Parts: sequence; structure tokens; C-alpha cells
Amino acid sequence: MNRFELARPRTVAQARELLAEKKGAALKAGGIDLLDHMKEHLVEPSRLVDLKAVPGLDQIIAEADGSLRIGPLATLAKVAAHAGVLKTHPALARACGEAASPQIRNVATIGGNLLQRPRCWYYRLESYRCLKKGGDVCYAVSGENRYHAIFGGGPSYAVHPSNAAVPLVAYGASLVIDGPKGPRTVPIADFFVSPTKDPEREHSLAAEEVLTEIRVPAGAGLKSAFDEVRERQAFDWPLVSMAAALKMEGGSVKEAHIVLGAVAPVPWRSSRAEQALVGQPLNEASATAAARGAIVGAAPLSDNGYKVGLVQTLVRRTLLALA
Ligand SMILES: Cc1cc2nc3c(=O)[nH]c(=O)nc-3n(C[C@H](O)[C@H](O)[C@H](O)COP(=O)(O)OP(=O)(O)OC[C@H]3O[C@@H](n4cnc5c(N)ncnc54)[C@H](O)[C@@H]3O)c2cc1C
Repeated sequence: MNRFELARPRTVAQARELLAEKKGAALKAGGIDLLDHMKEHLVEPSRLVDLKAVPGLDQIIAEADGSLRIGPLATLAKVAAHAGVLKTHPALARACGEAASPQIRNVATIGGNLLQRPRCWYYRLESYRCLKKGGDVCYAVSGENRYHAIFGGGPSYAVHPSNAAVPLVAYGASLVIDGPKGPRTVPIADFFVSPTKDPEREHSLAAEEVLTEIRVPAGAGLKSAFDEVRERQAFDWPLVSMAAALKMEGGSVKEAHIVLGAVAPVPWRSSRAEQALVGQPLNEASATAAARGAIVGAAPLSDNGYKVGLVQTLVRRTLLALA
């Protein structure tokens, strides 16, 4: 690992200054993903700007109207155990509580979780100059692709790695970002970048911007859940995950948000599954129809066709559990 300088700002404004003033400076939250990148020589920052010293950035506020304001430095463990989050947004608590291992969840932050880079083995290996690193090949296409995208893939097929992003998209959260032109708020669904737009990025945060808050609209009256399938119950990323947020009226689904994780380069909203639910009671028939809808358009690579069956099973199972 190269030598670097460590800076501990006390405000977001100082953090931005420290970031802008030195070429190659990088923000650090829990450091789980950043340090992995540094150890693999994928990034070599000249200065680490440690956001952990900024007071208040780790707060979670459950507002009286049932909405949440979550500081990006709140750890995954803190989000998972927060009484307000558990009460109004259980899918978010579960997604954070299932990620990684207890040790990692105690350090990793929700902001860093949204901004972590993909786990594709070709991307993570220094010797492969893949599309994500400015090369012109996605090695997964003709290589080892069992963990890669079955939706929205191409030209890069790495899947989005964040558990937290999946329920946050389902809940219609937005992100508050502070930058040189002042703060801006972006719907989280618009924040993630498809590889067709830019294969080298997964999100639209600019180099000198800081994520300062995650806002989650009120969850009252919603039925919501998160579930996932892993190869083993250990510190693995899911093979497939999903979040559902359903607004019910008179025993029927009035509005449905179904989002799939680990199957596409961005959290994948399944409009066909949503259409199958709206106007229907939540039961065996509608859950089965939604599960069928969820796999429409899947385009597996050579080794990841098994994900299609997993999606169908997970969608049906999660909706039936909610029913
Ligand atoms: C063994 C293992 C298993 C894992 N399993 C899972 C899993 O199942 N599901 C899952 O979702 N994740 C999993 N992870 C990933 C882990 O959850 C993330 O690496 C972690 O959440 C990143 O958060 P961090 O605070 O450490 O971020 P950091 O590593 O500090 O930062 C990550 C990136 O975000 C940027 N950044 C951080 N905060 C801000 C901010 N406020 N503003 C602007 N930029 C910022 C940093 O500059 C960096 O580029 C696993 C990791 C490991 C090592």
C-alpha cells in the first residue's frame, strides 16, 4: 500500500475542502471497501479524509410522521437495530442486518454501503484491465460469470453490491449531497448509473461531493419486506435479494414497488412484477403472477441461469410471507 496522509475534518465543509485541495484525496467512512481497494492497488489515495470525526453524521432520526433521516455514517449494525427503523421500515433494517458479518456491520456505514464498488472478481483483480477500469472488455462475458447480471447487463455485467440500496429504492428514498455548488437532493432510483451510460461508475456522485443524509419517506400503511438467498449463511454477498413495499387499500394492492438486488448492475425495479400485483389481493395467485413477471426479460450468461429460478422463488416466497 502506498503512503498516504490522514485528515480528520470536523465539518462537512472542511471535508470537502480537504478533498478538493489535494489531488488523489479520497473520503473514508468505515474504510471496509476503500481499504480493500487500496490493498489491491485499485486506488492509491494521497490523502484519506476520514468522515468519522464529523459529529452528527451518524445520527438516525425517526420523525413524528414516520419518515427517517439517516446520517451516512450510521453503521449497518446501528440501522439494523434502530427501533424506529424496525418499526416503520423493516425491510431496510433486515437488509442492513443481513449484510456481511457482525464485525463488518459494526464498522461499515450505510453511506459507504451504497457507494461501495462491485465485487466482480475481474474488477477486483489488479491484473485485469476490464471495462470498469478503463479497458475495453468485460471479462465476465466469456469468462467466469456465475455471480453476474441477468438483467440490464452490458457492456459490463458486474452486479450492484449494496444490500441497503434495494429497500431504499423500494421505499422511494432520496439522497442529500453536498458539493461545491451547495446541497442537492436526488431520488435514489436516479442516483445509480447503468453501464450503458458509463461502465466505469455505479453512481452519479461527483469527485468533490459528500453524501450527507438519506431521507426515507414515511412507511406507515406500507407492507414491506426484504429477503435474500445466499450460498451459505456466512459473510457472503447474496446471490439474489429483493425488497417489496406495498401500499394496500381495501384488501388490495394499490401501489407496488418490487426491487431486485444482485441481479443487475443497478438495483433492479421489476415493473412486470409490480403490474401483476396492483389491483389484486395479496395471495397465492398474485404472488405467483408477480414471480412470473419478475423473470420476464432475464438474459442469463453461460453460468448464471440458476439466478432466474432463484428470483422467481424469492419473489413468490417474500410476497407470501407478507400476505
Ligand atoms: C466479507 C465481506 C462481506 C460483505 N458482505 C456484504 C453483503 O452481504 N451485502 C452488502 O451490501 N455489503 C457487503 N459487504 C460490503 C460492505 O458492507 C461495504 O464494503 C461497506 O458497507 C462499505 O462501507 P464503509 O463505511 O466501510 O465505506 P468505505 O469503504 O469507507 O467507503 C466506500 C466508498 O464510499 C465513499 N464514501 C463513503 N462515505 C461517503 C460519503 N458520506 N460521501 C461520499 N463518499 C463516501 C468512499 O470514498 C469510498 O469510495 C461485505 C464486505 C466484506 C468485506
